[in-house]
Amino acid sequence: MKTVAQHLASVLSVVHALPPLELGLMDAHGCVLAEDVVASAPLPGFDNSAMDGYAVRVADLGTVPVVLPVVGDIAAGPASPLRVQPGLCVRIMTGAMMPAGADAVVPLEWTDGGVAQVRIDRRPDVGAYVRRAGEDVTAGTVVLATGVHLGAAQIGLAAAVGRARLVVRPQPRVVVVSTGSELVEPGEPLGPGQIQDSNSPALTAAAVEAGAIAYRVGIVPDDPRKLADTLEDQLVRADVLVTSGGVSVGAYDVVKEVLSRLGTVSFDKVAMQPGMPQGFGTIGPDRTPVFGLPGNPVSALVSFEMFVRPALRTMLGAVPIERPRVQAVTDVALDSPPGKRSFLRVALEVRDGAYRIRPVSGPGSHLLAGMSRANALAVVPEDVTRVEVGSPVEVLVLERRGR
Ligand code: AMP
Ligand code: MG
Repeated sequence: MKTVAQHLASVLSVVHALPPLELGLMDAHGCVLAEDVVASAPLPGFDNSAMDGYAVRVADLGTVPVVLPVVGDIAAGPASPLRVQPGLCVRIMTGAMMPAGADAVVPLEWTDGGVAQVRIDRRPDVGAYVRRAGEDVTAGTVVLATGVHLGAAQIGLAAAVGRARLVVRPQPRVVVVSTGSELVEPGEPLGPGQIQDSNSPALTAAAVEAGAIAYRVGIVPDDPRKLADTLEDQLVRADVLVTSGGVSVGAYDVVKEVLSRLGTVSFDKVAMQPGMPQGFGTIGPDRTPVFGLPGNPVSALVSFEMFVRPALRTMLGAVPIERPRVQAVTDVALDSPPGKRSFLRVALEVRDGAYRIRPVSGPGSHLLAGMSRANALAVVPEDVTRVEVGSPVEVLVLERRGR
């Protein structure tokens, strides 16, 4: 038997970060930057008003209230030709360029809102409600460094510094196939002995949550020919293939047979629970990595967490490749089989300033509802068979993240 660490090491020795390419801004969302993005100009680009109000010279507002003539209006957009002369003021909108001569903005709320003249009830400090050029970013700064994972705020910043295209590592494309002649597409009626395919939806969602682009092919029956045809067809668009089922020792475990024929794939027993049988290798002309995950739904998902997710994150170029881990204290004694690393489905919470866990499911690898209640996996090492109440345990945090 291999250890979890050994199996992960063999996976990571095969997968590599995908080569960078230039993408349009929105296509780069979810990718990892492969260049430093430098601001060629400051942000804000010019001094502008933080409020709707009046641009004034603070020295003119000796004692308030004071009434000043309003000599013009400045909206966001055009550059202001106005200069505020002593004793005068200009009405100004949020984001509009500060006129020369003015040194503060009086918010509309501090005035009577006048158009020809305005009564000002409070005196701002010099510089109040003015956003200074460069106070967010100075010209020449690296605003987004190589390796940054591009989410909403990063895409916004790239746009704000004027970038329409970015050099990124693309998201890996993952093709997900469920194998099993007992499987039925979710929503279709079940015959006797049939079950809904829950693995391809779960694994596709898990791939998206890991940062990949995922294609759910769905069900292939336990027919070697059909499986081989499907996998060969999918190779054109797959950076990674993930199958579930058919990797144990049953009579109809066709994944083993087919993958062994299409490439260099080995099938190992990994000392873990759930998820003992694992297939991994490469197939096809491009030596596409393929994971043959076990069929039991919790085994499939836990295997994904331990092996596929780190591989996808490596291909994406994202760090860290693993889920966050914390030390927690267990509220309930935990049992674990000898010689295996077990991953127990637990609820993790912070109580009295410490991470606490309690199991939310039995260990059965078919207990998907239990898995759905877990927000973390407690990791009990190979040489530990019992964790007593109040003892520390390492916990993998399963935060959920959309695309
Ligand atoms: P296998 O590894 O193919 O022997 O499958 C192990 C167990 O997982 C069996 O009870 C299967 O019915 C179940 N199983 C396999 N594939 C799926 C799937 N896609 N969705 C739900 N259960 C599955
Ligand atoms: Mg099967």
